[in-house]
Amino acid sequence: MLENLRQYVHELHMELPRYNLVVWTMGNVSVRDPESGLVVIKPSGVRYEHLKPEDMVITDLDGNVVEGRLKYSSDTLTHLYVYRHRPDVNGIAHTHSTFATAFAAVGRPIPCFLTGAADEFGGEIPVGEFTLIGTESIGEIIVRRIGRSKAIVMQNHGVFTLGKTGEDAVKAAVMCEDAARTSFYALQLGTPIPIPPEDIARLNDRYTNVYGNRL
Ligand SMILES: [Zn+2]
Repeated sequence: MLENLRQYVHELHMELPRYNLVVWTMGNVSVRDPESGLVVIKPSGVRYEHLKPEDMVITDLDGNVVEGRLKYSSDTLTHLYVYRHRPDVNGIAHTHSTFATAFAAVGRPIPCFLTGAADEFGGEIPVGEFTLIGTESIGEIIVRRIGRSKAIVMQNHGVFTLGKTGEDAVKAAVMCEDAARTSFYALQLGTPIPIPPEDIARLNDRYTNVYGNRL
């Protein structure tokens, strides 16, 4: 079932170690099939080098497994909560990437000091309050706190990113870590110079609506 989508979700998972966003079995990606509404997600506790497309778990939005011999990721209820409340979102990525998670550890948003961060996120990346995993509470905080951003850092935990597609969500996870890393180094060097909010809005609008090629 959904063979192409399982392949796609597997390829997206391979981007996480490639960009040094995850260690061991940590992190996950899911994608919602817009036609059936089913969600394809990583199985729990499988290392990236062992992960295969056929290992992916297919579930409905209530967490009933439709196909898959493995147990789904322990973050699945979080992903499903977000899909149920954000019809515009069809891809979600979760990592504990180092620099972004350092901001999570001190409960600070990731600032928007650079044009690249303004392009991708349109402002600082917000922080969601601490909660334990395994229930819907992370999903509830993400939906309530993320606003128009594509990313949120959950205090004492890590990063969740939302996208129109799975690739969008994984890209936001890469960009979030990049923004956190450069912000971290800038803060060591001195006081970063803020970008005026109206220019952040212009940058984000241009990048969202004009930049690149429609392929
Ligand atoms: Zn996590």
